[in-house]
Amino acid sequence: LEALLISSDPSPRLSYTTNHPEPCAVPGEVVVRVSLAGICATDLEIVRGYMGFLGVPGHEFVGVVETESSPLAGQRVVSEINCPCGTCDMCGRGWGGHCRRRTVLGIAGRDGAFAARLLIPEANCHVVPDEVPDEQAVFTELLAAAVQVIKLEPLERGSRVAVLGAGRLGRLVALVLAQTDCHVDVIVRSERAEAWCAKHGLSAVVVDGRRADPTYDVVVECTGVMKGLERAMQMCRPRGTIILKSTYADPPTIDLAPLVINELRVLGNRCGPFADALALLKAGKIPLDEMVAATFPLRDGVEAFKAAAAPGAMKVLLRPGAP
Ligand SMILES: [Zn+2]
Ligand SMILES: [Zn+2]
Repeated sequence: LEALLISSDPSPRLSYTTNHPEPCAVPGEVVVRVSLAGICATDLEIVRGYMGFLGVPGHEFVGVVETESSPLAGQRVVSEINCPCGTCDMCGRGWGGHCRRRTVLGIAGRDGAFAARLLIPEANCHVVPDEVPDEQAVFTELLAAAVQVIKLEPLERGSRVAVLGAGRLGRLVALVLAQTDCHVDVIVRSERAEAWCAKHGLSAVVVDGRRADPTYDVVVECTGVMKGLERAMQMCRPRGTIILKSTYADPPTIDLAPLVINELRVLGNRCGPFADALALLKAGKIPLDEMVAATFPLRDGVEAFKAAAAPGAMKVLLRPGAP
């Protein structure tokens, strides 16, 4: 099976192989042939050692169910990434994403989507509406994560919200927030990001290196780098809320005292509702033009990871299909 693989020798290293074992369907799970997959910031962190994951990375994808005994056979699907046990106390609360014994596609204990095929729980699959092409469906997982910003805890009406980072996730978060009654500023570094905001009717605030004024009720940290959290602490008003979307591979090297001094709330915020994301895509509410930087064949995956890691890079997609 063609796949990208993280192995340890002795530090984590990404390589391409055509010899990975084929997945075999087990009860409750289906084999999905991957049509298109996306590299996300978490994948970049995983290759640097985050989560200590070894195996096939990748959790953003769209594919077709191949297992013929499944009612989903032949259907185009996207898949939630957390695979819960169904019996622990967290599962009992309906929080499968926090299952004590969960595996997570391409992140923890289970091979992911940077392969020609992968195995996923049938219950994780969501059928993609015909109106949503693969090139949009591949954004479902990321868009669901953006929707979670307003789902986990509703924002107060009229809140002043800053979205820090106008990258892949930050742009989707901004587009989702723009549909609420909050006042949203997107904090940008590049003229390209500023132009993107203008095109989509979003207010852009250019970072100019000065210390930011602590005026925002809510700051959504989407930069993926620890400096972003430092910046978020500067921008958030006392007793305001930082919604943290980034996962950093390295331990904190920044001064966290402002969290205490300003009595800030930090809310971790991870995976979101696929049904909401697919509904937004189906309704054409999320413009995804300019979101894709490039599409690489899976065999050029190592190069694709380099492209995805470039500063300000938009989404890099991978398409399996080695002859
Ligand atoms: Zn991701
Ligand atoms: Zn569980």
